[in-house]
Amino acid sequence: MKKYKSVKKKREQMRKIQIIAVIVVALIFIISVIILLIRKFDLTEDSDSSNLLVEPVNAGKNESTTKESSISETEAETTTITTFDTIISETQPVIETPVVTIDDEPKEPTFINGVLIVNKSYKLPKDYNPGSLDETVVNAFYQMQEDAKAEGLNIWIASGFRSYEDQDRIYNKYVAREGQEVADTFSARPGYSEHQTGLAFDLNTIDDSFADTREGTWVAENAHKYGFIIRYPKGKESITGYKYEPWHLRYVGTMLATELYNSGLTLEEYFNIKSVYKSN
Ligand SMILES: [Zn+2]
Repeated sequence: MKKYKSVKKKREQMRKIQIIAVIVVALIFIISVIILLIRKFDLTEDSDSSNLLVEPVNAGKNESTTKESSISETEAETTTITTFDTIISETQPVIETPVVTIDDEPKEPTFINGVLIVNKSYKLPKDYNPGSLDETVVNAFYQMQEDAKAEGLNIWIASGFRSYEDQDRIYNKYVAREGQEVADTFSARPGYSEHQTGLAFDLNTIDDSFADTREGTWVAENAHKYGFIIRYPKGKESITGYKYEPWHLRYVGTMLATELYNSGLTLEEYFNIKSVYKSN
C-alpha cells in the first residue's frame, strides 16, 4: 500500500510540473505575440508619418541598400543624404576621411627656378627616392674625370646617392658618436641631405685635407664647367648651415654653376633663402 501511495504521489507531482510547463510556454507565446504586434504597429506609424526618420536608422545598419533607396526617392533627396551622413558619423567615429598632414613631412620637393632645393630649411619627402645618381650628373662627372685624368689627376666618387634610410642610419651614427649639435654641422638629418636628390656626391677622401690636394684645387677651379658647385664653401658656414666641404659637389647645370662660381654666391644667397632647422 505504501509503495502504491508513493507512486501515485509521484504521478501527481509530474502532472503538476507538466501543467506549469504548459502555462509557461503559453505565457511566452502570448508575450511574444504582443511584442510583435506592438512592433508592427510602431513601424507602420513611423513609415506613414515620416520616411526620413526610418531610412537613416536603417542606413546605419546597411549602407548600400539605403543609399539606393534614398537615391530612388527624388523627394527631399538631399535632406535624406545629409541625415544619412550624420548618422554614419555618429555610429562609426572610426572613419576619418581627411588625410593627416604633419608639418615637417612635405609631400613634394621644393624647386626654385627649376632648381631642386635641399638644405636645413627645405626637406625632401621621405619617399623621394631616385634610386641612384642622375644620369646627366653621372655623365657630367665622367667628362670631368676624363679631363682631370688628362692632367694626371685622379678623382672618383666616394659617396653618391643615399636614400632617406641610408641618411637616417649615417646621421644617427654621428649623433651617437659626437652628439647632435656637432653632427648637425657636417651631417644632414634624414630628408635634408642633398645626397637623397641623386644630384650630389662626395669626391675622393671626405676630409678637409682634400682641399689642399692637387685634385681638390683643380676641382674647385673647374667643376663649374661641368655644371657642379662646391655646395658648402669656406666662410659661408652660417649661410649654408654646414662647415666647409671641399669634397661635396652639387649639380646645378653649367649656366648656374658658372654664375655661382663667378659671383662667389652660395645657392642660399643666390635664391635668398635660409638654411636653418625648424626644431632641435
Ligand atoms: Zn656630401
